[in-house]
Amino acid sequence: MPTGGRTSAALDPEERAERLPAALDPEERAERLLAALDPEERADRLLADLGTAAGGLGAREAERRLAQHGPNEIRRVEGERLWRRIVRQLMDPLALLLWAASGFAVVEGSYAVAIVIVAVILLNAVFALLQERQAERATEALREYISARVRVRRDGQASEIEAAALVPGDIVLVGEGERLAADVRLLDGAVEVDMSPLTGESQPVLRTAARSRPAAMRIEAEDLLFTGTLCTGGEAVGVVYATGMATQLGRIAALSQRVGTELTPLQRQVNHAAKLIAVFGVLSGIVLFAVGTLAAGLSLGDSLNFAIGLLVANVPEGLLPTITLALAVGARRMARRRALIKRLPAVETLGSTDVICTDKTGTLTEGRMAVKLWWTDAGERAPGRDPFDGEPWSGLLQTAVRCNNASAREVAGGWERTGDPTESALLVGAALAGADIAGLQDERDAARARLLHFDARRKRMTTLDHEPDGPWWHAKGAPLELLDRCVAIRTAAGDRPLTGEDRARVAATFERYAAQGLRVLGLAERRAEDGAGEAPRDAAEAALVFLGLCALEDPPRAGVAEAVALCRAAGLRIIVITGDHGATVAAIARQVGITDGDPVVVAGPDLEGLPEPELDALLRTTDDLIVARSNPETKLRIVDSLRSQGHVVAMTGDGVNDAPALRRADIGIAMGASGTDVAREAATMVLTDDSFASIAAAVEEGRVVYDNVRKFITYVFAHATPEVVPFIVFALAGGAIPLPLTALMILAIDLGTETVPALALGREPGEPDIMRRPPRRRDAGLLDRSVLTRAWLWLGIVEAALVLGGFLWVLLREGWTLGDPTGAGTPLHDAHLTAMTMTFAGIVACQVGAAFACRTERASLRTIGLTTNRLLLWGIAFELAFAAAIIYLPFLQPVFDSAPLGPAELAVLATFPVIVWGVDELRRWWLRRRPARCADVGNCLEADRQDARANRS
Ligand code: ATP
Repeated sequence: MPTGGRTSAALDPEERAERLPAALDPEERAERLLAALDPEERADRLLADLGTAAGGLGAREAERRLAQHGPNEIRRVEGERLWRRIVRQLMDPLALLLWAASGFAVVEGSYAVAIVIVAVILLNAVFALLQERQAERATEALREYISARVRVRRDGQASEIEAAALVPGDIVLVGEGERLAADVRLLDGAVEVDMSPLTGESQPVLRTAARSRPAAMRIEAEDLLFTGTLCTGGEAVGVVYATGMATQLGRIAALSQRVGTELTPLQRQVNHAAKLIAVFGVLSGIVLFAVGTLAAGLSLGDSLNFAIGLLVANVPEGLLPTITLALAVGARRMARRRALIKRLPAVETLGSTDVICTDKTGTLTEGRMAVKLWWTDAGERAPGRDPFDGEPWSGLLQTAVRCNNASAREVAGGWERTGDPTESALLVGAALAGADIAGLQDERDAARARLLHFDARRKRMTTLDHEPDGPWWHAKGAPLELLDRCVAIRTAAGDRPLTGEDRARVAATFERYAAQGLRVLGLAERRAEDGAGEAPRDAAEAALVFLGLCALEDPPRAGVAEAVALCRAAGLRIIVITGDHGATVAAIARQVGITDGDPVVVAGPDLEGLPEPELDALLRTTDDLIVARSNPETKLRIVDSLRSQGHVVAMTGDGVNDAPALRRADIGIAMGASGTDVAREAATMVLTDDSFASIAAAVEEGRVVYDNVRKFITYVFAHATPEVVPFIVFALAGGAIPLPLTALMILAIDLGTETVPALALGREPGEPDIMRRPPRRRDAGLLDRSVLTRAWLWLGIVEAALVLGGFLWVLLREGWTLGDPTGAGTPLHDAHLTAMTMTFAGIVACQVGAAFACRTERASLRTIGLTTNRLLLWGIAFELAFAAAIIYLPFLQPVFDSAPLGPAELAVLATFPVIVWGVDELRRWWLRRRPARCADVGNCLEADRQDARANRS
């Protein structure tokens, strides 16, 4: 405890060890010692208690401790229990409807119907549970991908390890944007921390190694940091004193996060649609029941049977779990393409994304920088030739190393770098220019008195360092902004006041470098006055001496140009929003094909003053737009404006300050490799390779998922028409035409023959033109006119005509004429059974054709290949085997009122799939011949934009 008498925790380690029973084995002794530890005791004592030192643990000791304490993880609370899940499935509103239907069947005495309905309910529940489990596993697996990494010092060397591998006694480095992965006592430095995960208080608090007063509660201790909290600024070093479940957070088990059960907009739509369809099923059941008994003269029992059959046929069971699964499968496919989705809804949102706001460094470019040129008043030099001696070069290189938080070490065959890529490149660049960076780096850490960390708004970073001749400020940052803070320039002959001509010369050199796509930094320094440690930032970064420029090369990433072309063909607009200078970005944008000519480059500060309507107009009218020197707030304003215009916006970000924009965007995209934990948490998608190409891939997968759900729905809905139409014909004919289908046959189609092919359609690969279509409208419904027309009217009517034709053909062939009785005991009874079996087999055959037709929405089957969806082929094989069992197994025939079909019937049936598929192929051919209309792909955006432009002009 923090204060008070000498508790066991306040004893010397030796004293404490002595008080433990000697019989304990060494591991248990160590464990108990740790439990009795006081993280607020004197730092040297704490280090001794933890058996560590400032240089960190040795690798072997860390491994031993990991085995002893276990991985640094907070165990998750178990998910929903199995029996609860089963009950949830069985009590689902649609299931309740089916229970009611089976109840009716029992009352009416049709036990076979009742049993089949119960089988449908149970099978659906099992099916839904399996799919749910599979979807959950996919999301869990994704979570594991997004494991955090932490910076530690082990064996005296800074390195990065998985957060799960942290052990008590590890020395950790904490910096801006990082989430604490263990409970830590600060040893050096100060940081600002967002404690909201623990306290709910989101105002950042200062935590410093230099504690000024004792705290009443451990959570308020000034020198402690806790797992789960966020560092929002500063740099510090600390020692881990608790990990995993032993941490504050672990103890209060506040991190019992479970897989979210949030419904996606798509699922909500489907849920809603499913309910509507169920209502439709009930109503049509009631109407047909009335028509059957009153108009067609059916017995009460027969009518009820039919009403139940139709109701069951129309209840779209299994729709929701299949969609969840389709989303999860999509998320898994995206993960394979290096985009991790944190929430399933994002998968479908990605599919409708129409604007991508991307940053430049590391996303469009490699983010592995190398210094190409150094520039000072004395001229321009490339590293790698003779060492740079004398002023202004030595001051420039010194500043590049001192005002730097990264590290670089020469190893066999190259450089090992950690930290910010710009900064580590400066170190390597300085080394190649002859600076002794190994010595300077060691000295740098010891000599640093203060760090004014890189500020995305000021676009610079400054350090206060004690050098042998006294304290110095060293600054680096965006050249022109830095130049504004300078009053002198370093020359070979010493410092002299900056003239207007000097400023123009620096600016011209900077522009020349930027136009080549180089990233340029300015460097400056000045002797610090006494009390500089307390000076406000603006005062510290003033009256500087300009030293020179450093131009870094950061070439475009491989694959980005192709991804950009893909996005442009897909009607996606790309807006580059970057902190870097306009000319640099424009050059890179040209190299990767984001812009063809002269883009409109707007500077962040200029956008800031722009009133909202003008910002909206700018974004609406300027397609080829680049936003340079942006601030995090600029991103937020742009997202807001684009969203208010109805766009679905994906926005990248990596810093702490990007979090609000990432949250506000429809899809916030964080960088897995280089971004901060804060950005990763705010984002919905994390790119494991930081590349723009992965964004394009994710959008493509999102479109595939949406498409597949539509295909699946089209297929499932198509069978409703051939089931309903024959019955309507029977009812309208007043019974003069016999019943074309039994209720049990309808159930058999629903239960046995539909499910697997439907599921297989949810796993279709993308259509070839998927990235050549314009994006979907944000509000485009899943069950839009085009899906319903295609399912019910197009495929459905063709199927109904074929099925009814087959039924009448069999009857007529057997000598039936209108009005002839076909009941049991009549001469035409067998013919009627065969005709009904023909209807049943006809629907199955038509659905085989529909399954192939539904595989594409516009493309022809030839372009994707007949056998490319294996699961579908298996599904169809299963469907046919199931139908054959009902038709040919003697013990099933009396149950289903079926009769064996002969070669003539089978030959006719064989044409059905080809006709259904062929008719739809024609429809798709016709669709392809005209340009995509809004209704075809739920899209109007590109057309909208063109209209808007035409109106304005
Ligand atoms: P993007 O937003 O596309 O990733 P960026 O990385 O260039 O681009 P920022 O990191 O906000 O954007 O940097 C903005 C500017 O700040 C840079 O152009 C550079 O001049 C300067 N800068 C970047 N990193 C540092 C740093 N570590 N220290 C000092 N100045 C920096």
